[in-house]
Amino acid sequence: LLEVTGVGKRFGRLTVLDDVSLSVAPGEAFGIVGPNGAGKSTLLNVVNGVLSPDAGTVRLDGADVTRSGAAARCRAGIGRSYQVPRPFGGMTVFENALVAASFGTGARGRAAAEGAWRALETAGLTGVADTPAGALRLLDRKRLELARALATGPRLVLLDEIAGGLTEAEVPALVETVRDLGRQGVAVVWIEHVVHALVAVVTRLMCLTYGRVLAVGEPRAVLADPQVVEVYLGSTIGT
Ligand code: ATP
Ligand code: MG
Repeated sequence: LLEVTGVGKRFGRLTVLDDVSLSVAPGEAFGIVGPNGAGKSTLLNVVNGVLSPDAGTVRLDGADVTRSGAAARCRAGIGRSYQVPRPFGGMTVFENALVAASFGTGARGRAAAEGAWRALETAGLTGVADTPAGALRLLDRKRLELARALATGPRLVLLDEIAGGLTEAEVPALVETVRDLGRQGVAVVWIEHVVHALVAVVTRLMCLTYGRVLAVGEPRAVLADPQVVEVYLGSTIGT
């Protein structure tokens, strides 16, 4: 489904991604961990077309989409959640999902409304559909961020730290929702510092540091890798 090959990205003199490759099969859940500033969010930005890489290619179903923009990637089946949720606070939960359903795909009217409602169902938000987004508790704000990523009916959804800041009691419901995506055949790339949540869902895990792939493979094996323990887990005890 997704094939990222040899991607490089610099901001001025700072190399943020250096020769990063990954591939995700249809319906697969792929996890990404790494210290703050490792380049994880930047990698998602390259995958969904918000940023253009300086080197390497992004392929979707074999087609080279490296130079296409975020709206085109959205039409091609990529959905994206952002690390810092920025819903339109004065609009209701449903209206927020509706805006997301229209983005890029140009869906209007009934098609957009159906997409929005389906996303709210998947994210577990139908009960607060008419609530202003600005009044939501954090868990529901995270769910809305997920719903916005799902509103266009993507085949691949990119999740950026949707479990961050939640209480231990709130995390399992979110994990269950992400697992459901896999059951629906939606592939997931999930960046998360809440490692136990990630490991409960993903079949492969990548550790990124300073823009480089430190380890990738079976999640338990990656987390047991001495280099990963040293540069990542050693600094995040307790998460
Ligand atoms: P975190 O876990 O804190 O979210 P991250 O792995 O997602 O970190 P990125 O957000 O990808 O890290 O940032 C990687 C590096 O690139 C950081 O040093 C950041 O300051 C820098 N950076 C990100 N976006 C830009 C930008 N638009 N312009 C300049 N530097 C940037
Ligand atoms: Mg980030």
